[in-house]
Amino acid sequence: MEQFEVEIKSTAFVTPDVKRFELTRPKGFRFKPGQAAMVAIDKDGWRDKWRPLTFTSLTTARSLELVVKIYDAHGGVTQQMGLLHKGDKLLLKDVFGTIAYKGPGVFFAAGSGITPFLSIFRDLGKQQKISGNMLIYTNKTPSDVIMDEELIKLLGKNYLKLFTRQHVIGFRDRHIDREMLITLVQDFDQYFYLCGPEKFVRDLEAMLIGLGAKVDSLIFES
Ligand SMILES: Cc1cc2nc3c(=O)[nH]c(=O)nc-3n(C[C@H](O)[C@H](O)[C@H](O)COP(=O)(O)OP(=O)(O)OC[C@H]3O[C@@H](n4cnc5c(N)ncnc54)[C@H](O)[C@@H]3O)c2cc1C
Repeated sequence: MEQFEVEIKSTAFVTPDVKRFELTRPKGFRFKPGQAAMVAIDKDGWRDKWRPLTFTSLTTARSLELVVKIYDAHGGVTQQMGLLHKGDKLLLKDVFGTIAYKGPGVFFAAGSGITPFLSIFRDLGKQQKISGNMLIYTNKTPSDVIMDEELIKLLGKNYLKLFTRQHVIGFRDRHIDREMLITLVQDFDQYFYLCGPEKFVRDLEAMLIGLGAKVDSLIFES
């Protein structure tokens, strides 16, 4: 498949270890909300190290946006991306992804798993079609929440944050379990969108099916 070279227009850390990249958008470059591409750094020694990352920008925006969790301990691509600045270049290829909006439902995200949903919510927000959707977003601590203010604006009361590490007054402080799902979801005959670490997705999938959700109403990256 065609390979695109893009230039970094700006960068900013949005949490202590999550960095936002604004990129030039090549002519004719298309993607759908929720889709990812394979990304490599256009520097010697890094051009063959491709990693999947999701576009968070609106599909019609002039720039592309990536929101990337930087894993310094891995010594891999995201660590290097943590060192990149305006003017550095990335390579993109192979737009792909099975996470796509099918209709109103409940979105479960953990950490940087919010990225495909951010793209979907921005798109729905623009079309004024976001009502009827709910986001349950779990993170270790409040400082790990990505784009919190924007999510509040987009989803209002239909946005619930959970924290697994830190006691925070006013927020729930626990992992998602069966009892919590029964309380929060109630109607299991709707779409469920899942994104996060593999175990998070597998556990939720099993619990939701156990509570009556249909297999084909679960949407996650397969
Ligand atoms: C479809 C899809 C879309 C994605 N979209 C996004 C997104 O939008 N934003 C985002 O932030 N992430 C996203 N991810 C996850 C992202 O691809 C990974 O975080 C990224 O590939 C990590 O690359 P890396 O080179 O930094 O580290 P890795 O490739 O994970 O690791 C590099 C090396 O470090 C070693 N290593 C692995 N784990 C550890 C560890 N715990 N400690 C020390 N060393 C370790 C491994 O041996 C490996 O060789 C997505 C993933 C998928 C599948």
